[in-house]
Amino acid sequence: MGNLSGKTAVITGGNSGIGYATAKQFKADGANVIITGRSQEKVSAAADELGVIGLVADVSNLSALDHLVEQVKERMGVLDILFVNAGIFAPAPVGQNSEEMFDTQMGINFKGAVFTIEKFLPVLNDGGAIINLSSINAYTGMPNTSIYAASKAALNAYTRTAATELAPRNIRVNAVNPGPVTTPIFAKTGMQEEQLNDFANAIQKRVPLKRFGKPEDVANLVSFLASDDASFITGGEYNIDGGMNINPILS
Ligand code: NAD
Repeated sequence: MGNLSGKTAVITGGNSGIGYATAKQFKADGANVIITGRSQEKVSAAADELGVIGLVADVSNLSALDHLVEQVKERMGVLDILFVNAGIFAPAPVGQNSEEMFDTQMGINFKGAVFTIEKFLPVLNDGGAIINLSSINAYTGMPNTSIYAASKAALNAYTRTAATELAPRNIRVNAVNPGPVTTPIFAKTGMQEEQLNDFANAIQKRVPLKRFGKPEDVANLVSFLASDDASFITGGEYNIDGGMNINPILS
């Protein structure tokens, strides 16, 4: 999608879904890619399939992030692209949000994203690109997403300030806000197959383009934002949602 030849990229949560599709796209566009994830088995399997380097690091653990940065330094020296993609979705109605669900979602989706950036900044080249994977939930009042939505809204706020502050180094920072995308993230909530199908049908009806996004749809946008073709784009947020965010009256 973009020309990434000669660039080095790290994708957090690259063993599955959107991260995996983006690793494939980055590689096709000429980048040297490192993917990360939490499970050694899954990261190694994905890295082998993709022909990229796979490293294990839980983004909610700051010492694991320090170790990850050291490993990336050893393997690649410096970095041009950081795709902050790792995230989880733990739906619950207001009134039933537990402290544990709050800490886990904020710890991975917000704190994990922030400290991924903070820790990688010293090895990120001037002129580099950071892309944060947020969600249109940052702006919608979709039921059962209060904490998830807050974690993504917080990430978008951090993105704007980071874009301003890193501009002197010509590091561009942008956020991508997908609508519903077909990935394993929904099955990981523990919902049964029938519930998942009902949920998917209800959501799909509300998308003007009448489909879920594909991970490749998002990968194309991320690859463009990572490339020099996007060299005047920073501090932006890009909805990629089949129009879901602009049309609340579809049933
Ligand atoms: P996915 O479950 O397929 O992938 C999530 C990835 O994040 C996995 O590789 C997982 O190992 C990794 N991950 C989770 N917790 C981690 C941790 N603590 N440390 C390191 N890695 C961790 O789901 P996906 O849909 O591809 O999700 C990718 C991103 O897209 C997430 O940030 C998610 O919030 C966001 N998103 C997804 C959708 C959607 O509909 N699928 C919509 C909007 C935003």
